[in-house]
Order: sequence, then structure tokens, then C-alpha cells
Amino acid sequence: MPRPGAQSLSPHMFPPFPHPRLLLHSCCAPCSSAIIEWLLQNDIRPTVFYYNPNIFPREEYDKRKDEAIRFVTSQGLEFIDADYDHAAWLCEMSGLEQEPERGSRCQRCFDLRLCETARYAATHGFNLFTTTLASSRWKSLEQINRAGRLAAERHPGTTFWERNWRKGGLQERRNQLLKQYAFYNQLYCGCEFSIRAPQNVSVSN
Ligand code: SF4
Repeated sequence: MPRPGAQSLSPHMFPPFPHPRLLLHSCCAPCSSAIIEWLLQNDIRPTVFYYNPNIFPREEYDKRKDEAIRFVTSQGLEFIDADYDHAAWLCEMSGLEQEPERGSRCQRCFDLRLCETARYAATHGFNLFTTTLASSRWKSLEQINRAGRLAAERHPGTTFWERNWRKGGLQERRNQLLKQYAFYNQLYCGCEFSIRAPQNVSVSN
């Protein structure tokens, strides 16, 4: 599993225990691609869990999900298509609509998505979970890790793998795979509150 000599790269570079059954929360195909490639190269076959009720509008959600399915199935992995209930997500975000990105709305959004991932993991025999959200330089890694730890605490029986998925050359590899697979590359994080004016648009995931 872990490659000899590579452990020193980061304390969380490899899973906290050998032979994990890993549930990988995926936010989109571009962010998932280099992570999945790395996992397979290290003999870890994740099951991919797509739970992103934050994405708006529905057409955008379908487009991102279809791209994720295209990549995940091309790797011979199982794809779990979880619920899309954007109205319920909006209720959860009530009062936080005007928060900036990386603020308390994003914390609640991560909490919600990772709690559902942990719930699914704990009830379906996955002893480890992690998220591709942690690969985005536009998001707060601290918020994501806080959400992952909280989710694991709430759902005993599974552990959050707190890895910085931006390190180890994965950011660069993500950009290569983005071109190689010609992925649809979204221009905003996901919810309606993150849609920006065209002149300010930048790649968000
Ligand atoms: S900006 Fe992104 S992380 Fe923040 S609430 Fe919206 S979808 Fe969630």
C-alpha cells in the first residue's frame, strides 16, 4: 500500500490504517481525477459518493454529475448517486445567504455534505472517508477538516482521512487531467450565492 520512503512527505499522506474501505466524497470530476488516479496507483479502490445538494441550478448539477460519472466509471469504480434536495439545502443555509465564500455558510455547507458522507460510510461498512473538496485552493482546508472531524464524531464506526489533497503534485496533475479528459470546468463554487458577474469569474473548484 504506502510506497516505501514516501511517508515523510506528509503526516496524512497515506490512510491512517492499512487496507481501508474508503468512501470518497466527490464534488466534481476535475477535483476527483488526480485524487482517484493517486489512490489507484497506491492500491486503494475508493467508492465514490456524490452528494452535492448545494449546486444550483439543476442543469449545472446534472452537468457536473454527468462528468463525474463519466470519469468514475471509466476507472471501473462504483459511483453512488446520493439525493439532490436543493430546497432542503437552502433551508439549512437560511440566514447565511449574504456570507462571503469561506465564511459561515460554507462551513455549514461542508458540515452538511460531510455529515451525510459519514452517515453513509458508517452504515455501509466504509471505515474511512475523505473528500475531494480538500483539493480546491479556493476553499478553506481548515473548514473542510473541521467538518470532516465533526462528521466522523457524529457517525462512529468511520474515520475521516484528513489529507491535504493539493500537495504531492496533485494540483498540477489535476490540471493535466482536466485537459486530457476535456472535463466541463465549472466557473463558480456551486450555490446561487457563489455565482459571480462574468468579469469576476474564476475557476472555483
Ligand atoms: S460557496 Fe460553495 S462551499 Fe460555500 S455555501 Fe456555496 S456551494 Fe457551499
